[in-house]
Amino acid sequence: MNSPLEDADRKYIWHPFTQMKEWEQGHPVIIERGEGPFLISIDGQRYLDGVSSLWVNIHGHAKKEINDAITAQLGRIAHSTLLGLSNVPAIQLAERLADLLDPALSHIFYSDNGSTAVEVALKMAFQYWKHKGEDGRNSFLALNNAYHGDTLGAVSVGGVEIFHHAFGPLLFKTFRAPSPYCYRCELGRERAECDFACLDAMEEQMRGHQGGIAAVIVEPLVQAAGGMIVSPPGYLKGVRDLCTKYGILMIADEVATGFGRTGQMFACGHEGVVPDIICLSKGITGGYLPLAVTVTTDEVYSAFLGEFRDLKTFFHGHSYTGNPLGCAAALACLDIFEKEKVIEGLAPKVELFSKLLREMAGLQHVGDVRFRGLMAGVELVRDKATKEPYAWEEKIGWRVALKALEKGLFIRPLGNIIVLIPPLSITMDELRRMLGIIRDSIEEAL
Ligand code: PMP
Repeated sequence: MNSPLEDADRKYIWHPFTQMKEWEQGHPVIIERGEGPFLISIDGQRYLDGVSSLWVNIHGHAKKEINDAITAQLGRIAHSTLLGLSNVPAIQLAERLADLLDPALSHIFYSDNGSTAVEVALKMAFQYWKHKGEDGRNSFLALNNAYHGDTLGAVSVGGVEIFHHAFGPLLFKTFRAPSPYCYRCELGRERAECDFACLDAMEEQMRGHQGGIAAVIVEPLVQAAGGMIVSPPGYLKGVRDLCTKYGILMIADEVATGFGRTGQMFACGHEGVVPDIICLSKGITGGYLPLAVTVTTDEVYSAFLGEFRDLKTFFHGHSYTGNPLGCAAALACLDIFEKEKVIEGLAPKVELFSKLLREMAGLQHVGDVRFRGLMAGVELVRDKATKEPYAWEEKIGWRVALKALEKGLFIRPLGNIIVLIPPLSITMDELRRMLGIIRDSIEEAL
């Protein structure tokens, strides 16, 4: 017999990225509580949260310090607007973030999720050039396999065919460069000899459309939703150098990679790259509340300064911009990073994670294993020698995910790619358990 909650879920909730006909035929796991890296369902089952509740959770669920910070803030005020007012935690967080980021990035624009952080970045870059008197810069340069969110601007610069194709007629034109997807190089090259041919292709686009491109947008080091595609060392720096050479703004979308996921606080740090605009969300609140920031430089910010009648104002803002509860959670999240020396403590976990992942590369249907920090993608293939993929309709990733769920691990694959992004607080034992379940699930499902 179904529980009343299960019936009500089927009747009323339209789940995201979900074929609801299939959903209605299944039995949803309904989560009631969380504890560290575990999700606990209404019937008391415990599931390791292998994807940090869609890549947001950092220090585990029900973390006392974050709970307390939100509760304390609730006693003061839950929300007041940044349109015409300021608020205490929003100011404190802006200052903390500016300290954490490169000194060049110090102007913080709040919004409430990754997609809006990207929308803000796109509009900011576009309008920056208008204010500079360059009216022709009406396009962006983005990568194939990019994913920057689901709002229409973010989809316009996205490049994941299966998600984005249907909306084609609604999107603005975007120039494209190849994805740094070495396992399936679009240019047919091998990494050992390619000499970054993908950057040459990017440069060609820049050269050809120099006066028409407002900004290049990239996901630093890992193209996450496009398939956990890890760019080769030096690629990101190469993008930065090209942006500088051609006088094009660089937007780093660190919505997925920010806050320690790649082993450093921000992925850009690995290659000493300072973008002109950075987008942060997801882990910013430790995965507790929706909050995002788009951070930029003096150069971009000051182009918007003028008299009111100049109409240089950045006309953008959301109801929950700078939400005090979210900012309080984010401050507590940053305190934990400091107090528990989270980044410093990642190295042994990253080492174990990479070792276990490398071992998995030996499995018959594992074509490629790629990882950076505690982010990983395991690409399943029908034929390892030819790299022949499974047809997407076969839902191979889902078959593995269902097995994993039976064994107490929740993951959400991307097509044929098994995605692993555990909370940074996961222990070595839990990491072993997670990778063990993945290994068994792949063997059983295929
Ligand atoms: N950018 C990147 C790199 C992302 O991975 C995501 C979400 N997966 C987004 C933007 C969009 O974030 P949100 O879902 O919070 O709108």
